[in-house]
Amino acid sequence: MSSAQLDDKGVVVSCQHCGQRNRIQYERLNQPLRCGKCKSSIPGVAMPIDVDSEQHFNTLAGLSPLPVLVDFWAPWCGPCKMVAPEFERLAATTAGKLIVAKVNTEEQPNLAHRYAIHAIPTMILFTHGEEAGRVSGARPASAIQQFVDESLRQAKV
Ligand SMILES: [Zn+2]
Repeated sequence: MSSAQLDDKGVVVSCQHCGQRNRIQYERLNQPLRCGKCKSSIPGVAMPIDVDSEQHFNTLAGLSPLPVLVDFWAPWCGPCKMVAPEFERLAATTAGKLIVAKVNTEEQPNLAHRYAIHAIPTMILFTHGEEAGRVSGARPASAIQQFVDESLRQAKV
């Protein structure tokens, strides 16, 4: 299973054509780029991002010009496993429009505590670092998309 990683400057994704790793800077997540090696176009982050530290989470959520949908999950949670492919589907169809990220609450208990995660999976949508909506429980990609659209609409009012 492929996923994107975070570093101090941005999101590292693999080129789907040649496998070259390319970094998309946090501030430019809404802009397409070309692979540094084969020059094929990379539409954006098309897969869920594994959040590996609170620091990287802060940077991603705070600097991303795109809304960031975060799935708080745990390895022992059955519904989380069911919803994982739905997140992959959503990430693939929303590349360049939405960032999809995953927080393993076992590895990042500080983030789970900070956002008072009591049930998993819980999905929180962030815009410019601020919580714009949250929902708990597994659901198909179409329903997750609906939750995102609804939250963004309400956040703008
Ligand atoms: Zn390439």
